[in-house]
Amino acid sequence: MIVAEDIYKKFNDTVALNRVNITIPTGSIFGLLGPNGAGKTTFIRILTRIYLSDGGTVLINDNPLNELNARKIGYLPEERGLYKKMKVGELILYMARLRGLKTVEAKEQMNYWFGRFDIRDWSDKRIDSLSKGMQQKVQFIIAVLHRPEFLILDEPFSGLDPLNTEAIENEILELHKSGTTIVFSTHNMDSVERFCERVVLIDKGQVVLSGTVDEVKQAHKQSLYEFKCREHVDFLNERIAKSGTVVSSELKSGVYTVLAKLNTESEADGVLIDIAGKVKLTSFCELLPSMNDIFIESVKNKNEEL
Ligand code: ADP
Repeated sequence: MIVAEDIYKKFNDTVALNRVNITIPTGSIFGLLGPNGAGKTTFIRILTRIYLSDGGTVLINDNPLNELNARKIGYLPEERGLYKKMKVGELILYMARLRGLKTVEAKEQMNYWFGRFDIRDWSDKRIDSLSKGMQQKVQFIIAVLHRPEFLILDEPFSGLDPLNTEAIENEILELHKSGTTIVFSTHNMDSVERFCERVVLIDKGQVVLSGTVDEVKQAHKQSLYEFKCREHVDFLNERIAKSGTVVSSELKSGVYTVLAKLNTESEADGVLIDIAGKVKLTSFCELLPSMNDIFIESVKNKNEEL
């Protein structure tokens, strides 16, 4: 588990992180979310000891972060700064040595990953001869070569084609299955919906919301419901209007879809009881907000408060 408490970081007049508390549980897939300039990169750089914080503490598995235990963290940065003139194999082994791996072990791991990505003939290729997707794979291998317990991925899919995205995605999920804790830093809410169990949203250096994806959605839900039926939609709409508002009512391929905003959550039961036997419902569900809606709403609200 990584526990960051009361983290404060200032650059000249800019407070990049203002007393931030973030806990990343072991084994989770964790989303570190926030708009540009929120402080995500600064936070990651503190975890990876590229920066020292001006206040607060970071504990890794209950021990204060230091040079040695920081190696438990692997990091795939967003800007892919690789040494362009080096060969792939040379670069990977060089980076592995920096992370404390012995050459034999590093070679073993490198061959394992070359096999996983089916790129056994890449070792002698120069970095600057690789496409963006290929460079991303090399950078991924560098991030995971020392088998970190925690893997931080900063926008790992940006600029990748669907095939490379899938290849990297599969490896991330495999690593998670084998026990690696995954931290996604992203503003791509689709990948958050698909992967993350927990999220923290930061804006202007402060935590705006945190929790499991389900908790966050439950906290932001707005009594929105979707009814589907084949007939007597007028009866349904009239009944909904007594307990709230019909947001939309559409007919498509013989099925009416009615979106309703009810005054309270408990009104849904009343509507269902009253329409039973009169409206042939084919489905009914509560609509939870998307992470994208929650992101936009939370960041907007925060800015309006200021
Ligand atoms: P994010 O990764 O969420 O886009 P950053 O952590 O990069 O946000 O930036 C947070 C704030 O700190 C921004 O206002 C940014 O301009 C500032 N900042 C980040 N790094 C530096 C730096 N090295 N020097 C000065 N200001 C910085």
